[in-house]
Amino acid sequence: MNATVTSMPSHSTSRRAPGPSADVLVIGGGVIGLCCALELQRVGRQVRILEKNTIGSGASHGNCGTITPSHAEPLAMPGVIAKGLRWTFQPDAPLYIAPRFDPALWRWLWNFARRCNEADCRSATQAKSALLQASRLLLETCVREQALDCEFETGGLLYAYRDPRQRDADLHDLHYLREVGIVAEPLDAARMAAEEPSLREEIIGGLLFPNDASLRPDRYVAGLERLARAEGVEIIEHCEVTGFRRERGLVVGVDTNRGPQRGREVLLAGGAWSPLLARQLDLRLPIQPGKGYSITFDAQRHPPRHQLVLRERSVCVTAWSSGFRLGSTMEFSGYDSTLNRTRLEALVRGAGEYLREPPTGPRVEEWYGWRPMTYDDLPILGRAPGSDNLWIASGHGMLGVSMSLATGRLLADLICAREPLIDPSPYSAQRFVF
Ligand SMILES: Cc1cc2nc3c(=O)[nH]c(=O)nc-3n(C[C@H](O)[C@H](O)[C@H](O)COP(=O)(O)OP(=O)(O)OC[C@H]3O[C@@H](n4cnc5c(N)ncnc54)[C@H](O)[C@@H]3O)c2cc1C
Repeated sequence: MNATVTSMPSHSTSRRAPGPSADVLVIGGGVIGLCCALELQRVGRQVRILEKNTIGSGASHGNCGTITPSHAEPLAMPGVIAKGLRWTFQPDAPLYIAPRFDPALWRWLWNFARRCNEADCRSATQAKSALLQASRLLLETCVREQALDCEFETGGLLYAYRDPRQRDADLHDLHYLREVGIVAEPLDAARMAAEEPSLREEIIGGLLFPNDASLRPDRYVAGLERLARAEGVEIIEHCEVTGFRRERGLVVGVDTNRGPQRGREVLLAGGAWSPLLARQLDLRLPIQPGKGYSITFDAQRHPPRHQLVLRERSVCVTAWSSGFRLGSTMEFSGYDSTLNRTRLEALVRGAGEYLREPPTGPRVEEWYGWRPMTYDDLPILGRAPGSDNLWIASGHGMLGVSMSLATGRLLADLICAREPLIDPSPYSAQRFVF
Protein backbone atom coordinates (compact mmCIF):
# COMPACT_ATOMS: atom_id res chain seq x y z
CA MET A 1 0.00 0.00 0.00
CA ASN A 2 1.42 3.38 -0.95
CA ALA A 3 0.99 6.09 1.61
CA THR A 4 0.22 9.72 1.09
CA VAL A 5 2.69 11.44 3.32
CA THR A 6 2.68 15.01 4.45
CA SER A 7 5.37 16.69 6.48
CA MET A 8 5.34 16.73 10.26
CA PRO A 9 4.08 19.89 11.94
CA SER A 10 7.07 21.87 13.18
CA HIS A 11 5.45 22.99 16.45
CA SER A 12 3.60 21.02 19.07
CA THR A 13 -0.05 21.82 19.42
CA SER A 14 0.36 22.20 23.18
CA ARG A 15 3.30 22.20 25.54
CA ARG A 16 3.05 21.50 29.24
CA ALA A 17 5.57 21.54 32.05
CA PRO A 18 6.78 18.02 32.93
CA GLY A 19 4.82 16.55 35.82
CA PRO A 20 5.45 13.60 38.15
CA SER A 21 3.62 11.35 35.71
CA ALA A 22 4.10 11.39 31.92
CA ASP A 23 1.37 10.90 29.35
CA VAL A 24 3.63 8.38 27.62
CA LEU A 25 6.69 6.60 28.99
CA VAL A 26 8.91 5.40 26.16
CA ILE A 27 11.30 2.58 27.08
CA GLY A 28 14.42 2.85 24.89
CA GLY A 29 16.13 5.81 23.25
CA GLY A 30 17.13 4.35 19.87
CA VAL A 31 15.85 5.69 16.53
CA ILE A 32 12.50 4.03 17.09
CA GLY A 33 11.91 5.35 20.62
CA LEU A 34 13.07 8.81 19.54
CA CYS A 35 10.82 9.00 16.47
CA CYS A 36 7.78 7.80 18.44
CA ALA A 37 8.51 10.26 21.26
CA LEU A 38 8.99 13.15 18.85
CA GLU A 39 5.75 12.52 17.00
CA LEU A 40 3.72 11.99 20.19
CA GLN A 41 5.08 15.17 21.75
CA ARG A 42 4.22 17.08 18.59
CA VAL A 43 0.59 16.10 18.86
CA GLY A 44 0.39 17.32 22.43
CA ARG A 45 1.38 14.36 24.64
CA GLN A 46 3.93 14.82 27.42
CA VAL A 47 6.54 12.17 26.66
CA ARG A 48 9.41 10.85 28.76
CA ILE A 49 12.11 8.56 27.32
CA LEU A 50 13.82 6.15 29.74
CA GLU A 51 17.14 4.94 28.32
CA LYS A 52 19.37 2.50 30.17
CA ASN A 53 22.59 3.81 28.65
CA THR A 54 22.80 6.93 26.51
CA ILE A 55 20.54 7.96 23.64
CA GLY A 56 21.36 6.07 20.45
CA SER A 57 23.86 3.72 22.08
CA GLY A 58 22.18 0.51 20.80
CA ALA A 59 21.83 -0.76 17.23
CA SER A 60 21.06 2.79 16.12
CA HIS A 61 24.68 3.87 16.60
CA GLY A 62 27.11 2.13 14.23
CA ASN A 63 24.83 0.73 11.56
CA CYS A 64 25.33 1.37 7.85
CA GLY A 65 22.85 4.23 7.56
CA THR A 66 21.37 3.17 4.24
CA ILE A 67 17.74 4.12 3.61
CA THR A 68 16.50 1.27 1.52
CA PRO A 69 12.98 0.87 0.16
CA SER A 70 14.85 -1.60 -2.11
CA HIS A 71 15.13 -4.00 0.85
CA ALA A 72 11.38 -4.62 0.96
CA GLU A 73 11.74 -8.35 0.35
CA PRO A 74 11.86 -10.32 3.60
CA LEU A 75 14.83 -12.44 4.60
CA ALA A 76 12.54 -15.49 4.49
CA MET A 77 12.45 -16.05 0.74
CA PRO A 78 12.14 -19.22 -1.33
CA GLY A 79 15.62 -20.80 -1.62
CA VAL A 80 17.12 -19.05 1.37
CA ILE A 81 17.33 -22.15 3.56
CA ALA A 82 19.66 -24.00 1.16
CA LYS A 83 21.94 -20.96 1.01
CA GLY A 84 21.90 -20.63 4.81
CA LEU A 85 22.89 -24.27 5.24
CA ARG A 86 25.87 -23.82 2.89
CA TRP A 87 26.99 -20.80 4.91
CA THR A 88 26.82 -22.77 8.19
CA PHE A 89 30.14 -24.43 7.34
CA GLN A 90 31.96 -21.15 6.58
CA PRO A 91 33.17 -19.28 9.71
CA ASP A 92 33.31 -15.94 7.87
CA ALA A 93 30.04 -16.31 5.92
CA PRO A 94 27.49 -13.46 6.01
CA LEU A 95 25.22 -15.63 8.21
CA TYR A 96 26.29 -17.56 11.32
CA ILE A 97 24.18 -19.46 13.85
CA ALA A 98 26.10 -20.37 16.99
CA PRO A 99 25.21 -24.00 17.83
CA ARG A 100 23.60 -24.11 21.28
CA PHE A 101 20.56 -25.25 23.27
CA ASP A 102 18.09 -22.42 22.82
CA PRO A 103 14.44 -23.46 22.28
CA ALA A 104 13.34 -19.86 21.58
CA LEU A 105 15.89 -19.61 18.74
CA TRP A 106 14.89 -22.98 17.36
CA ARG A 107 11.19 -21.96 17.39
CA TRP A 108 12.17 -18.75 15.66
CA LEU A 109 14.14 -20.64 12.98
CA TRP A 110 11.30 -23.12 12.47
CA ASN A 111 8.82 -20.31 11.93
CA PHE A 112 11.29 -18.54 9.64
CA ALA A 113 11.70 -21.72 7.53
CA ARG A 114 7.91 -22.10 7.22
CA ARG A 115 7.71 -18.64 5.68
CA CYS A 116 10.19 -19.29 2.88
CA ASN A 117 7.48 -19.53 0.24
CA GLU A 118 6.07 -17.30 -2.51
CA ALA A 119 2.84 -16.27 -0.77
CA ASP A 120 4.41 -15.21 2.55
CA CYS A 121 7.28 -13.54 0.75
CA ARG A 122 4.86 -11.50 -1.34
CA SER A 123 2.69 -10.35 1.58
CA ALA A 124 5.75 -9.45 3.71
CA THR A 125 7.19 -7.47 0.78
CA GLN A 126 3.98 -5.44 0.53
CA ALA A 127 3.87 -4.70 4.25
CA LYS A 128 7.56 -3.82 4.49
CA SER A 129 7.35 -1.67 1.41
CA ALA A 130 4.45 0.42 2.74
CA LEU A 131 6.46 1.33 5.84
CA LEU A 132 9.74 1.83 3.98
CA GLN A 133 8.31 4.06 1.27
CA ALA A 134 6.31 6.18 3.71
CA SER A 135 9.41 6.62 5.85
CA ARG A 136 11.61 7.51 2.89
CA LEU A 137 9.26 10.38 2.01
CA LEU A 138 9.01 11.59 5.59
CA LEU A 139 12.78 11.54 5.94
CA GLU A 140 13.41 13.74 2.93
CA THR A 141 10.88 16.28 4.21
CA CYS A 142 12.19 16.13 7.77
CA VAL A 143 15.80 16.65 6.70
CA ARG A 144 14.82 19.65 4.59
CA GLU A 145 12.32 21.32 6.92
CA GLN A 146 14.12 20.66 10.21
CA ALA A 147 17.64 21.24 8.81
CA LEU A 148 18.67 17.83 10.13
CA ASP A 149 22.45 17.71 9.76
CA CYS A 150 23.02 13.96 9.15
CA GLU A 151 24.84 13.79 5.78
CA PHE A 152 21.65 12.70 4.02
CA GLU A 153 22.33 11.75 0.38
CA THR A 154 19.93 10.61 -2.31
CA GLY A 155 22.34 9.09 -4.86
CA GLY A 156 20.81 5.59 -4.77
CA LEU A 157 22.23 2.24 -3.74
CA LEU A 158 24.33 0.12 -6.08
CA TYR A 159 24.69 -3.67 -5.84
CA ALA A 160 28.02 -4.93 -7.28
CA TYR A 161 28.35 -8.52 -8.53
CA ARG A 162 31.30 -10.81 -9.16
CA ASP A 163 29.23 -13.94 -9.80
CA PRO A 164 26.67 -14.06 -12.66
CA ARG A 165 24.62 -16.67 -10.76
CA GLN A 166 24.01 -14.25 -7.88
CA ARG A 167 23.11 -11.46 -10.29
CA ASP A 168 20.69 -13.72 -12.19
CA ALA A 169 19.03 -14.85 -8.95
CA ASP A 170 18.54 -11.22 -7.88
CA LEU A 171 17.19 -10.26 -11.30
CA HIS A 172 14.72 -13.14 -11.07
CA ASP A 173 13.51 -11.99 -7.63
CA LEU A 174 13.01 -8.42 -8.79
CA HIS A 175 9.37 -9.20 -9.60
CA TYR A 176 8.49 -8.97 -5.89
CA LEU A 177 9.84 -5.42 -5.84
CA ARG A 178 8.26 -4.41 -9.14
CA GLU A 179 4.87 -5.41 -7.74
CA VAL A 180 5.25 -2.76 -5.02
CA GLY A 181 6.57 -0.10 -7.39
CA ILE A 182 10.27 -0.26 -6.56
CA VAL A 183 12.49 0.64 -9.49
CA ALA A 184 15.78 -1.15 -10.19
CA GLU A 185 18.14 -0.60 -13.09
CA PRO A 186 20.43 -3.47 -14.18
CA LEU A 187 23.90 -2.31 -15.32
CA ASP A 188 26.34 -4.32 -17.43
CA ALA A 189 30.08 -4.43 -16.73
CA ALA A 190 30.85 -1.46 -19.00
CA ARG A 191 28.15 0.73 -17.40
CA MET A 192 29.36 -0.31 -13.95
CA ALA A 193 32.93 0.70 -14.79
CA ALA A 194 31.70 4.10 -15.96
CA GLU A 195 29.21 4.59 -13.12
CA GLU A 196 31.44 3.43 -10.27
CA PRO A 197 35.20 3.68 -11.02
CA SER A 198 36.06 2.65 -7.45
CA LEU A 199 35.20 -0.99 -8.34
CA ARG A 200 37.67 -3.57 -9.65
CA GLU A 201 37.60 -4.81 -13.24
CA GLU A 202 36.33 -8.29 -12.18
CA ILE A 203 32.88 -6.82 -11.45
CA ILE A 204 30.50 -8.37 -13.96
CA GLY A 205 27.53 -6.06 -13.47
CA GLY A 206 25.31 -4.25 -11.03
CA LEU A 207 21.86 -3.26 -9.97
CA LEU A 208 21.05 0.36 -9.20
CA PHE A 209 18.20 1.32 -6.86
CA PRO A 210 17.90 5.03 -7.61
CA ASN A 211 15.33 5.84 -4.91
CA ASP A 212 17.49 4.61 -2.01
CA ALA A 213 19.37 7.09 0.14
CA SER A 214 21.82 7.19 3.02
CA LEU A 215 22.74 9.16 6.12
CA ARG A 216 25.17 9.04 8.99
CA PRO A 217 23.17 7.23 11.70
CA ASP A 218 24.85 8.70 14.80
CA ARG A 219 24.25 12.19 13.42
CA TYR A 220 20.67 11.31 12.56
CA VAL A 221 20.10 10.13 16.14
CA ALA A 222 21.75 13.30 17.49
CA GLY A 223 19.48 15.40 15.24
CA LEU A 224 16.36 13.54 16.40
CA GLU A 225 17.42 13.96 20.02
CA ARG A 226 17.87 17.69 19.48
CA LEU A 227 14.42 17.99 17.88
CA ALA A 228 12.84 15.91 20.64
CA ARG A 229 14.35 18.01 23.43
CA ALA A 230 13.34 21.21 21.63
CA GLU A 231 9.75 19.95 21.46
CA GLY A 232 9.80 19.27 25.20
CA VAL A 233 10.40 15.50 25.35
CA GLU A 234 12.03 14.60 28.68
CA ILE A 235 14.98 12.26 28.35
CA ILE A 236 16.36 10.32 31.30
CA GLU A 237 19.58 8.48 30.49
CA HIS A 238 21.21 5.74 32.58
CA CYS A 239 17.70 4.78 33.64
CA GLU A 240 17.12 1.05 33.21
CA VAL A 241 13.57 -0.24 33.30
CA THR A 242 13.52 -3.37 35.43
CA GLY A 243 9.79 -4.16 35.64
CA PHE A 244 6.22 -3.00 35.14
CA ARG A 245 3.68 -1.68 37.64
CA ARG A 246 0.13 -2.87 37.14
CA GLU A 247 -3.15 -1.82 38.70
CA ARG A 248 -6.52 -3.34 37.83
CA GLY A 249 -5.16 -4.87 34.64
CA LEU A 250 -3.53 -1.68 33.38
CA VAL A 251 0.18 -0.94 33.18
CA VAL A 252 0.46 2.26 35.20
CA GLY A 253 4.21 2.69 35.20
CA VAL A 254 7.58 1.00 35.42
CA ASP A 255 10.28 0.30 37.98
CA THR A 256 13.76 1.55 37.16
CA ASN A 257 17.19 1.57 38.77
CA ARG A 258 16.40 5.21 39.61
CA GLY A 259 13.00 4.60 41.16
CA PRO A 260 9.47 4.16 39.82
CA GLN A 261 8.03 6.13 36.89
CA ARG A 262 4.33 6.56 36.24
CA GLY A 263 2.72 7.00 32.83
CA ARG A 264 -0.76 6.85 31.33
CA GLU A 265 0.61 4.89 28.39
CA VAL A 266 3.83 2.87 28.16
CA LEU A 267 5.61 2.23 24.86
CA LEU A 268 8.16 -0.56 24.63
CA ALA A 269 10.84 0.48 22.11
CA GLY A 270 13.77 -1.45 23.53
CA GLY A 271 15.05 -2.90 20.23
CA ALA A 272 16.60 -6.35 20.64
CA TRP A 273 16.07 -6.13 24.42
CA SER A 274 12.28 -5.77 24.11
CA PRO A 275 11.51 -9.51 24.47
CA LEU A 276 13.45 -9.64 27.75
CA LEU A 277 11.19 -6.99 29.29
CA ALA A 278 8.02 -8.27 27.62
CA ARG A 279 8.53 -11.67 29.25
CA GLN A 280 7.70 -10.07 32.60
CA LEU A 281 4.20 -9.48 31.25
CA ASP A 282 3.97 -13.05 29.91
CA LEU A 283 4.39 -11.78 26.35
CA ARG A 284 6.69 -13.90 24.24
CA LEU A 285 7.79 -11.53 21.49
CA PRO A 286 9.52 -13.61 18.78
CA ILE A 287 12.51 -11.29 18.51
CA GLN A 288 16.07 -12.63 18.32
CA PRO A 289 19.17 -10.44 18.53
CA GLY A 290 20.78 -10.57 15.06
CA LYS A 291 24.31 -9.39 15.64
CA GLY A 292 26.00 -7.29 12.98
CA TYR A 293 29.39 -5.63 12.82
CA SER A 294 30.85 -2.47 11.38
CA ILE A 295 34.27 -0.88 11.02
CA THR A 296 34.54 2.87 10.61
CA PHE A 297 37.51 4.64 9.03
CA ASP A 298 38.26 8.29 8.40
CA ALA A 299 36.98 9.62 5.06
CA GLN A 300 38.93 8.00 2.19
CA ARG A 301 40.73 9.85 -0.61
CA HIS A 302 38.83 8.15 -3.45
CA PRO A 303 35.51 7.01 -2.00
CA PRO A 304 32.84 5.26 -4.10
CA ARG A 305 30.30 7.58 -5.73
CA HIS A 306 27.41 5.42 -4.51
CA GLN A 307 26.56 3.57 -1.34
CA LEU A 308 27.42 -0.03 -2.26
CA VAL A 309 26.37 -3.56 -1.43
CA LEU A 310 29.14 -6.04 -2.31
CA ARG A 311 26.56 -8.64 -3.06
CA GLU A 312 28.13 -12.08 -2.72
CA ARG A 313 29.86 -11.02 0.54
CA SER A 314 26.83 -9.03 1.76
CA VAL A 315 29.13 -6.19 2.79
CA CYS A 316 27.67 -2.70 2.82
CA VAL A 317 29.95 0.25 2.04
CA THR A 318 28.84 3.72 3.12
CA ALA A 319 31.01 6.74 2.43
CA TRP A 320 30.18 10.08 4.04
CA SER A 321 32.18 13.29 3.92
CA SER A 322 33.00 12.63 7.61
CA GLY A 323 33.93 8.94 7.37
CA PHE A 324 33.82 5.57 5.66
CA ARG A 325 32.09 2.43 6.99
CA LEU A 326 32.07 -1.26 6.15
CA GLY A 327 29.23 -3.13 7.78
CA SER A 328 26.94 -6.13 7.84
CA THR A 329 27.01 -9.86 8.73
CA MET A 330 24.23 -11.62 10.64
CA GLU A 331 25.07 -13.73 13.65
CA PHE A 332 22.54 -15.50 15.86
CA SER A 333 24.54 -16.02 19.03
CA GLY A 334 22.07 -14.78 21.63
CA TYR A 335 23.11 -11.77 23.71
CA ASP A 336 26.81 -12.57 23.31
CA SER A 337 28.67 -9.28 23.51
CA THR A 338 32.09 -10.32 22.20
CA LEU A 339 33.56 -8.97 18.97
CA ASN A 340 34.23 -11.97 16.73
CA ARG A 341 37.44 -11.03 14.92
CA THR A 342 36.99 -13.57 12.11
CA ARG A 343 33.65 -12.04 11.23
CA LEU A 344 34.86 -8.48 11.68
CA GLU A 345 37.86 -9.05 9.40
CA ALA A 346 35.57 -10.70 6.82
CA LEU A 347 34.25 -7.19 6.15
CA VAL A 348 37.71 -5.95 5.18
CA ARG A 349 38.53 -9.07 3.16
CA GLY A 350 35.20 -8.76 1.33
CA ALA A 351 35.86 -5.10 0.51
CA GLY A 352 39.27 -6.05 -0.91
CA GLU A 353 37.61 -8.37 -3.44
CA TYR A 354 35.53 -5.53 -4.93
CA LEU A 355 37.21 -2.17 -4.33
CA ARG A 356 40.29 -0.95 -6.20
CA GLU A 357 41.34 0.91 -3.06
CA PRO A 358 40.19 -0.89 0.10
CA PRO A 359 40.00 1.46 3.10
CA THR A 360 43.28 2.51 4.69
CA GLY A 361 44.24 4.40 7.82
CA PRO A 362 43.37 3.87 11.47
CA ARG A 363 40.07 2.27 12.44
CA VAL A 364 38.03 4.92 14.18
CA GLU A 365 35.61 2.34 15.58
CA GLU A 366 35.04 -1.41 15.56
CA TRP A 367 31.45 -2.03 16.57
CA TYR A 368 28.68 -4.59 16.92
CA GLY A 369 24.95 -4.06 17.30
CA TRP A 370 21.97 -6.34 17.89
CA ARG A 371 19.27 -6.02 15.27
CA PRO A 372 15.83 -6.86 16.66
CA MET A 373 14.88 -9.68 14.28
CA THR A 374 11.36 -11.10 13.90
CA TYR A 375 11.00 -14.29 11.86
CA ASP A 376 8.61 -12.67 9.37
CA ASP A 377 10.91 -9.64 9.03
CA LEU A 378 8.11 -7.22 9.96
CA PRO A 379 8.25 -4.98 12.99
CA ILE A 380 5.74 -5.33 15.82
CA LEU A 381 3.77 -2.08 16.00
CA GLY A 382 0.68 -1.37 18.01
CA ARG A 383 -1.11 -2.29 21.21
CA ALA A 384 0.29 -5.21 23.20
CA PRO A 385 -2.10 -8.17 23.35
CA GLY A 386 -4.21 -8.17 26.50
CA SER A 387 -3.41 -4.57 27.43
CA ASP A 388 -5.15 -1.27 26.82
CA ASN A 389 -2.24 1.02 27.46
CA LEU A 390 0.95 -0.92 26.72
CA TRP A 391 2.25 -0.37 23.18
CA ILE A 392 5.07 -2.00 21.24
CA ALA A 393 7.39 -0.56 18.58
CA SER A 394 10.13 -3.15 18.15
CA GLY A 395 11.48 -5.77 15.79
CA HIS A 396 12.69 -3.58 12.91
CA GLY A 397 15.45 -6.03 12.05
CA MET A 398 17.86 -4.77 9.40
CA LEU A 399 15.82 -1.67 8.58
CA GLY A 400 15.06 0.32 11.71
CA VAL A 401 16.65 3.51 10.45
CA SER A 402 14.87 3.22 7.10
CA MET A 403 11.51 2.66 8.84
CA SER A 404 11.99 5.04 11.75
CA LEU A 405 9.92 8.12 10.89
CA ALA A 406 6.91 6.20 9.56
CA THR A 407 7.02 4.03 12.69
CA GLY A 408 6.89 7.13 14.87
CA ARG A 409 3.98 8.55 12.92
CA LEU A 410 2.05 5.27 12.90
CA LEU A 411 2.47 4.71 16.65
CA ALA A 412 1.35 8.26 17.39
CA ASP A 413 -1.68 7.74 15.13
CA LEU A 414 -2.60 4.54 16.95
CA ILE A 415 -2.04 5.88 20.47
CA CYS A 416 -3.99 9.06 19.71
CA ALA A 417 -6.71 7.15 17.80
CA ARG A 418 -6.08 9.17 14.61
CA GLU A 419 -6.46 8.00 11.01
CA PRO A 420 -3.35 5.83 10.57
CA LEU A 421 -0.65 6.82 8.08
CA ILE A 422 -0.76 3.33 6.56
CA ASP A 423 -2.73 0.16 7.26
CA PRO A 424 -1.35 -1.03 10.64
CA SER A 425 -2.76 -4.56 10.55
CA PRO A 426 0.29 -6.41 9.08
CA TYR A 427 2.45 -5.21 12.00
CA SER A 428 0.03 -6.09 14.80
CA ALA A 429 1.38 -8.23 17.64
CA GLN A 430 -1.84 -10.25 17.33
CA ARG A 431 -0.29 -12.11 14.38
CA PHE A 432 1.72 -14.18 16.85
CA VAL A 433 0.15 -16.76 19.11
CA PHE A 434 0.93 -15.79 22.70
C1 LIG B 1 25.68 -3.86 11.34
C2 LIG B 1 24.30 -3.25 11.21
C3 LIG B 1 23.99 -2.53 10.07
C4 LIG B 1 22.72 -1.97 9.92
N1 LIG B 1 22.47 -1.21 8.82
C5 LIG B 1 21.25 -0.61 8.68
C6 LIG B 1 21.00 0.22 7.56
O1 LIG B 1 21.86 0.43 6.71
N2 LIG B 1 19.75 0.77 7.44
C7 LIG B 1 18.77 0.55 8.37
O2 LIG B 1 17.66 1.04 8.19
N3 LIG B 1 19.00 -0.23 9.46
C8 LIG B 1 20.22 -0.80 9.64
N4 LIG B 1 20.46 -1.62 10.71
C9 LIG B 1 19.35 -1.92 11.64
C10 LIG B 1 19.10 -0.77 12.63
O3 LIG B 1 20.32 -0.43 13.23
C11 LIG B 1 18.09 -1.23 13.69
O4 LIG B 1 16.94 -1.79 13.09
C12 LIG B 1 17.62 -0.04 14.52
O5 LIG B 1 18.73 0.67 15.04
C13 LIG B 1 16.74 -0.50 15.68
O6 LIG B 1 16.40 0.64 16.43
P1 LIG B 1 15.73 0.49 17.85
O7 LIG B 1 15.51 1.87 18.37
O8 LIG B 1 14.58 -0.45 17.78
O9 LIG B 1 16.84 -0.29 18.73
P2 LIG B 1 18.16 0.26 19.45
O10 LIG B 1 18.84 1.30 18.67
O11 LIG B 1 18.95 -0.93 19.84
O12 LIG B 1 17.56 0.99 20.71
C14 LIG B 1 16.99 0.30 21.80
C15 LIG B 1 17.35 1.10 23.04
O13 LIG B 1 16.64 0.57 24.15
C16 LIG B 1 17.49 0.67 25.28
N5 LIG B 1 17.00 -0.28 26.28
C17 LIG B 1 16.96 -1.63 26.18
N6 LIG B 1 16.47 -2.18 27.30
C18 LIG B 1 16.17 -1.15 28.13
C19 LIG B 1 15.66 -1.08 29.46
N7 LIG B 1 15.36 -2.19 30.15
N8 LIG B 1 15.49 0.14 30.02
C20 LIG B 1 15.81 1.28 29.32
N9 LIG B 1 16.33 1.25 28.07
C21 LIG B 1 16.51 0.06 27.49
C22 LIG B 1 18.86 0.30 24.73
O14 LIG B 1 19.91 0.75 25.56
C23 LIG B 1 18.84 0.98 23.37
O15 LIG B 1 19.39 2.27 23.39
C24 LIG B 1 21.72 -2.17 10.92
C25 LIG B 1 22.05 -2.87 12.08
C26 LIG B 1 23.33 -3.41 12.24
C27 LIG B 1 23.65 -4.15 13.51
